[in-house]
Amino acid sequence: MSSWERVVSRGLRLLRLDSIRSKMLVFGILATLIPSFTTAWISYLQNKRSLTEKITGELQSVSAQTAREMDLWVKERLYELRVFASSYEVSENLDRITRGGGAAALARLTDYLRSVHERFADYPELLVVNPRGEAVATTARQATPAHLPANWAAAIRADNAVLGDAYRDDALGKDVVIFAVPIYQTGGRFLGALTAKLDLAAVHHLLRRFAAGATGRVYLITAAGQPLVGSEAEHEALMQRHLDSAVAGWLLEHEGLPLEFTGLQGVRVVASAKRVPHVEWAVLAQVPAAEAFRQVTRLRNVTVLIVAALLVGVGLLAYVLGLLITRPLDRLTRGAAGVAGGDLAVDLPVVGGGELGYVTEVFNDMVARLRDSRRELERLSITDDLTTLFNRRYVMEALANEVRRSRRLEHPFTLLMLDVDHFKEYNDAYGHLAGDAALARVAAILKESTRDVDCAARYGGEEFVILLPETEAAGATETAQRIQARLARDEQVGGKLTLSVGVAQFPEDGESPEELLAGADAALYQAKREGRNRVLRAVR
Ligand code: GH3
Ligand code: MG
Ligand code: MG
Repeated sequence: MSSWERVVSRGLRLLRLDSIRSKMLVFGILATLIPSFTTAWISYLQNKRSLTEKITGELQSVSAQTAREMDLWVKERLYELRVFASSYEVSENLDRITRGGGAAALARLTDYLRSVHERFADYPELLVVNPRGEAVATTARQATPAHLPANWAAAIRADNAVLGDAYRDDALGKDVVIFAVPIYQTGGRFLGALTAKLDLAAVHHLLRRFAAGATGRVYLITAAGQPLVGSEAEHEALMQRHLDSAVAGWLLEHEGLPLEFTGLQGVRVVASAKRVPHVEWAVLAQVPAAEAFRQVTRLRNVTVLIVAALLVGVGLLAYVLGLLITRPLDRLTRGAAGVAGGDLAVDLPVVGGGELGYVTEVFNDMVARLRDSRRELERLSITDDLTTLFNRRYVMEALANEVRRSRRLEHPFTLLMLDVDHFKEYNDAYGHLAGDAALARVAAILKESTRDVDCAARYGGEEFVILLPETEAAGATETAQRIQARLARDEQVGGKLTLSVGVAQFPEDGESPEELLAGADAALYQAKREGRNRVLRAVR
């Protein structure tokens, strides 16, 4: 294992991620998250930028148009006022009044103001003030103070007009703004000012035309951030609110650039401002930020949803894949453990192809071979090489088992002990190899003459043992005689070899393997003594 492998696997173990399944899960999740979040982030940024550009364009166009329109509106109002102020009726009568000219002049001036007032609905009140700012004549029943700026008398002569404060006029019940133009006598002497209170509702109607869509708003604000009038329906309480001065400062410093802030209605807005030429006012155009960036927000939500769905899908896939890989591995591990524990009956199912399928097949094949060789070893361990009969070890075990079984069932069985007569002489006569062949032939005859349930074994040298379950001595004796007869007829060894046989029956001739063997052996030697080639039963 190289050092990086060791480091990585220690890290994974610490995170409890060392199983293949969790590694695949982590891989799947990372492989989903990294590309999808990168893509989403890039497209989010791009969308936001292009949307910001679009909004900026819209806000710029709205504020610039409105500012132009406001400029026109101001110019038109001032033009009208100058026309009224230049009337002979105004200067002549004001002059007379100033010189103490009396009631007739005042009546005529008031009549003139009223006639103008009736024709122009946008002027809730028109008044004429003297150079000290005191109302001389008014269209109102009761003259209300006209809020003129402190230095108005100087300003009005310099600029030929003064734009005063906007305020709530309680007597009129209206939001108004003060416009004033100078009144001169024919010779050029300054007599006072024609002062008009202008209804801001007119501006409200103008602004309404420019507000974008249902949620867009346009305001007329002072340079200090004080809103005068807005496009929204409830425009009257507007003057009590105030834009943050830092926000107003920034907007007027960066005309046409968008800024996001908490607007007059307390919600986040995107806005840009444009100064109205010649006056101290600016137009503020805004849209709610949520509205403006709805597309981006939607995109973000959809992205989050898609990524979440992808994560679930990929997670499931990785989990299933992990199962597909680890299940066969688990089976292989269990199978190998079984084989290691000596269980060779293992045969694993080969599910699917691929490396694991191949490994499983190889494993099964290997176990099958192990099984075969163990079976062969077992067979060899109980088989006699020369005769292929069972060997002495096996028959001793079989005898012990048969004693137990027959004792339990109270059934008889018989043990035959067979010895080739004068085999030494046969060996001497035909050679040791021919002796071997003769032994193999005798064994074959034993096998052919007994049942499958009988157990024929080579007991040692030229001695054999046959175990005959469920058989009494009489039947066993018949079997022994049949063997002798076959041997006598045999083509290869017939006439050259004979067998002596001892018979012992369980339980009569012995109740244990030892007793039975001793009984059969004694009978065999008795048969030898009596002349060989005969079958004798044990005597107790
Ligand atoms: P008896 O009739 O008294 O049994 O006489 P015997 O010659 O058969 O008995 P003995 O015990 O004197 O001799 C047994 C002979 O069997 C001796 C041995 O050379 C021979 N023999 C034992 N095992 C084998 C074998 O595997 N192959 C061969 N060729 N001969 C064997
Ligand atoms: Mg012998
Ligand atoms: Mg012998």
